[in-house]
Amino acid sequence: MEHLGEKNYSSVLPALITIGAYVGIEVYVYVVARSIANLSTLAILIPFVLVIYFSFRDGIRGGFVAGIITIFFYLYIIFSLHYAGSQKTSGLITTGFLGALYILLACIIGGLKQRIDTLMGAERQARQLAEEGRLRLETILQQLPVGVLIADAKERKFTANKYMEKIVGKKIDEFIRYEPHYVSRIAFASQKPIMLEKWPIIRALDYGETVPDEEIEYIRHDKKRLYLRVNAAPIKGTDGEIIAAVSTIYDYSQIKELEMRKDDFVNIASHELKTPITSIMLYVDALISKAKDPKTKKIAMNIKVQTGRLQKLVSDLLDVSRLQTGKMSFTKEKFSLDKLVAEATSQLQDTTQQPLILSQTFHAVVMADKFRIYQVLTNILTNAIKYSQGKGNITISLYSEKDSVICSVQDFGIGIEKGKEKKIFERLYRGNSDKENTFPGFGMGLFISQEIIKRHLGRIWVHSEVDRGSTFYFSLPLAKREKKI
Ligand code: ADP
Repeated sequence: MEHLGEKNYSSVLPALITIGAYVGIEVYVYVVARSIANLSTLAILIPFVLVIYFSFRDGIRGGFVAGIITIFFYLYIIFSLHYAGSQKTSGLITTGFLGALYILLACIIGGLKQRIDTLMGAERQARQLAEEGRLRLETILQQLPVGVLIADAKERKFTANKYMEKIVGKKIDEFIRYEPHYVSRIAFASQKPIMLEKWPIIRALDYGETVPDEEIEYIRHDKKRLYLRVNAAPIKGTDGEIIAAVSTIYDYSQIKELEMRKDDFVNIASHELKTPITSIMLYVDALISKAKDPKTKKIAMNIKVQTGRLQKLVSDLLDVSRLQTGKMSFTKEKFSLDKLVAEATSQLQDTTQQPLILSQTFHAVVMADKFRIYQVLTNILTNAIKYSQGKGNITISLYSEKDSVICSVQDFGIGIEKGKEKKIFERLYRGNSDKENTFPGFGMGLFISQEIIKRHLGRIWVHSEVDRGSTFYFSLPLAKREKKI
């Protein structure tokens, strides 16, 4: 049995043992038994055993060697006993018949044995490969600098890598157990405790959901608040059924703490800068109105322009910080967006020679924060002026779509590179950083505009082509008409 599955076939051992067996028979018959009476039984029984055994042990080759040696042994007996006539003929026929039988046995049993070896070898190799793959995966998992949590669908058991246990500071079964309605009071999403069903890994396991980058706050047993970014995905078997789920957990607490400290700094610094800048503005206005000398007036005007930029920067910084900390509040009222658009257009027309054309409009009443929507409009319009460098008209349109109003601002300026249309709405993203001096800015305007529009349940987007221009759109829900009684 120890030879099953192994392919190290030998022909030496079958040859030696078979020859040895026949020498043994000879010795037994002539020296011990002193009679040839038992020879025929032994001469048939032993070759059968030998051929079968060696076919099984060494495949076709082993059985074949035993068979051939047996045929020679028979011939040796026929010739050494000086058979003649019909006795010799029947001896030779029997030898031929038995020889053919042994070779056939060797082919059948040896062939079967070789086939079994091939199958068992392949299976062993597959098992070995699978085990190696498992070990490799296990090592990678254990070495990863992110937490990995795996849930098994059948046993509802959780396993985790070392890093995961380091993040949560506990053995995994103390951190998460499968119990329906298990609420983790130590982990939060949007400051609410999370029920087990809402854990990303359970959503992946039970509902096949793929959870991308969810932020979870986790309070560790040492009271430290951790900020985790969690992904999860189901693992499906070949029949498409969910067999497990995997979740990766990235601890970004250090980055978050730095970000919070930076936000605090920006918040405090902008608050502190706001008052002196307002005073400078007032003094400059006084200087401009009092200055007699045109040179002094020009200098004062320049100071006013630069202070205006500074004021915009500080107020944008404050807005970003308010948005980050959720402290931007909105005072909503009903107003006509068409009037606000006309007002913003005419006010900005005073600052540029470029024609700003209000091409299409309608009476659009919205329920929104007028000051903040005005901020969005001026941001999009000043960008259109800035990034078109006096080229072509700037067209503003208002039209309705279902229950919303859409405002579009089209320019024929430098346009936006393909693939950057979403990025320009990110905080501090500047699309033309190589042309920074040509187009001054801080990359905060569109981020603030997007957040304002989102919080009014609207949408903001852009269609653009490099060197052909851009059209910015934003939508707002129209205010519901009051029913007449
Ligand atoms: P800023 O204009 O201060 O850089 P914004 O947040 O207002 O910041 O805009 C972000 C980026 O979007 C800009 O740097 C610019 O590359 C791109 N952008 C905005 N409006 C336009 C426009 N009308 N045409 C071309 N690019 C634009």
